Amino acid sequence: MEIGFIGLGNMGAPMARNLAAAGHSVVGYDPAGFAVEGVGHAGSAAAAAAARDAVLTMLPDGAILRQVYEAVLPAARPGAVLIDCSTVDVESARAVAAEAAAAGLAAIDAPVSGGVAGAVAGTLTFMVGGPPAAFAQARPLLHVMGSRAVHCGATGAGQVAKICNNMLLGISMIGACEAFALAEKLGLDPHSLYDVVSTSSGACWSVTSYCPVPGVGPTSPADHDYRPGFAAELMLKDLGLGQQAAAAAGAATPLGAAAMALYETFVAAGGRGRDFSAMLPWLREQPRTG
Ligand code: NAD
Repeated sequence: MEIGFIGLGNMGAPMARNLAAAGHSVVGYDPAGFAVEGVGHAGSAAAAAAARDAVLTMLPDGAILRQVYEAVLPAARPGAVLIDCSTVDVESARAVAAEAAAAGLAAIDAPVSGGVAGAVAGTLTFMVGGPPAAFAQARPLLHVMGSRAVHCGATGAGQVAKICNNMLLGISMIGACEAFALAEKLGLDPHSLYDVVSTSSGACWSVTSYCPVPGVGPTSPADHDYRPGFAAELMLKDLGLGQQAAAAAGAATPLGAAAMALYETFVAAGGRGRDFSAMLPWLREQPRTG
């Protein structure tokens, strides 16, 4: 396929490289410049989109996505599928998809989980919202960049799944960190707590697959001095999107709000650039209040 790829940062670059390596013809645009093996340069977002079968975007936020789609929509050819893989607010995802539909173009929101490692390995999971026909059109490309693509429902459903998952992840990571920090202060060996929790009712991914204690459980960023992984500021971004969506929907999310406040404090206190599981060493140092 002829593909345009807009936004070639930490995630977009390896995703575009994998598409090119699979034999697709890929041109890219990023105002910051890029050098991606097998991917040609386009001078603008419109040039990257023009006459392509598929246009992918991997951008920082919803405001930039809306701005990029203003250039992409008039340039894209009828019949092209637009695939936005960025994590953005639900409102922006729905707005750009509606504009695409009005312009006669198929569009899906397809945010990912799996991080940079998953993007490099081509093992991302895509959470997709949009018309089934557009999903079917995009599917072969999603399966080059990832190992799983789940059609979650109508436009915006991919972003909803992503922010709900990450709200739960942020909350569960804080819970895991609190449990290990408390156990340590009470003199319990973290290996013992891991052995119990990982096969008990407290089990969760933050403990069993991504344990925040170095040397405990499978290898995780904690074993590499908390290098991300999934950076704390990206978790903060996703918790913010969760709170934005919860406010718009009138949903009570007290733990989601508390998790966001904690990550805000942690990121400002030196957590930026560290893995989100580095909440544990930070929490350990916090005084008990109340
Ligand atoms: P990044 O900052 O490395 O890349 C974003 C790229 O977009 C940059 O290269 C930037 O120059 C480019 N860009 C900015 N404005 C642009 C414009 N107007 N036109 C074209 N390109 C423009 O970020 P990333 O880590 O690659 O993340 C991209 C998206 O994926 C974000 O929405 C993020 O939340 C999501 N995400 C990231 C991860 C991760 O682990 N990094 C995991 C899952 C999802």
